[in-house]
Amino acid sequence: MSLLQVESLSIAFGGVKAVDNISFTVEPGEVFTIVGPNGAGKSTIFNLISRLYEPSGGRIVFDGRDITRLPAHDIAGLGIARTFQNIELFDHSSVLQNLLIGRHARRTTSWHEDLLFLPKVRRAEREHRRIVEEVIDFLELAAYRDKLIAGLPYGVRKLVEIARALSSEPRLILLDEPASGLSVEETQDMAWWIEDMQKDLGLTVLMVEHDMSLVSRVSDRVLAVAEGRPLALGRPDEVQADPKVIEAYLGQ
Ligand code: ADP
Ligand code: MG
Repeated sequence: MSLLQVESLSIAFGGVKAVDNISFTVEPGEVFTIVGPNGAGKSTIFNLISRLYEPSGGRIVFDGRDITRLPAHDIAGLGIARTFQNIELFDHSSVLQNLLIGRHARRTTSWHEDLLFLPKVRRAEREHRRIVEEVIDFLELAAYRDKLIAGLPYGVRKLVEIARALSSEPRLILLDEPASGLSVEETQDMAWWIEDMQKDLGLTVLMVEHDMSLVSRVSDRVLAVAEGRPLALGRPDEVQADPKVIEAYLGQ
């Protein structure tokens, strides 16, 4: 069974069809990448899956369960985490604090329940801390653990954004342009991290990315979109060679 099924997904903003009848599946353990020119609707697809936007049509099924109408916080609790194209971290908090906040995306109790069950809550806090430290080790962020986000180099902040998503122990991670703004060397490192997430953590990755060398290297399958509509779906080399895809990029 597919981990994620997106069926005929659509949304319009003021008459503009930003996402227009998009369908694809993401299989367990694969890296699936969406490519396309600026404004093609890629981030909007992520906003629909993470339920920041309400689709006007279509269906989203995660692990066999229809999540189309679930609120955003339930989506996180089910095991879908995401990064944002424009990093969304708390600048005046430390790396550790940001990751603990990310961890709380999975929170299932209310504060008054917490007060009633304090010992249980303290155990849970220790568990949060343990998972977050594991993520810090995994992405080799120990040197930055107690540093404020505001003072960190851009490349490190991109990695912390991923660490925040990993802290909720997702089964599916959505990465929105993980290599944007990175140097060639940092992009190489990002490819390693994505491969490690897939191979060592067994994560399923749904990614939006422009850097075609990174896309070809890490992706099992690629979907190309333009103006909200699907153009081609297949292996990275197949999609890159597709005349419709080449035309969409040249027309940019
Ligand atoms: P991409 O990520 O592929 O570059 P986006 O998904 O961000 O593109 O945007 C697709 C289209 O939808 C663009 O025309 C954009 O202006 C529009 N759009 C996205 N979000 C909104 C919104 N919240 N309100 C109005 N228009 C939006
Ligand atoms: Mg985008």
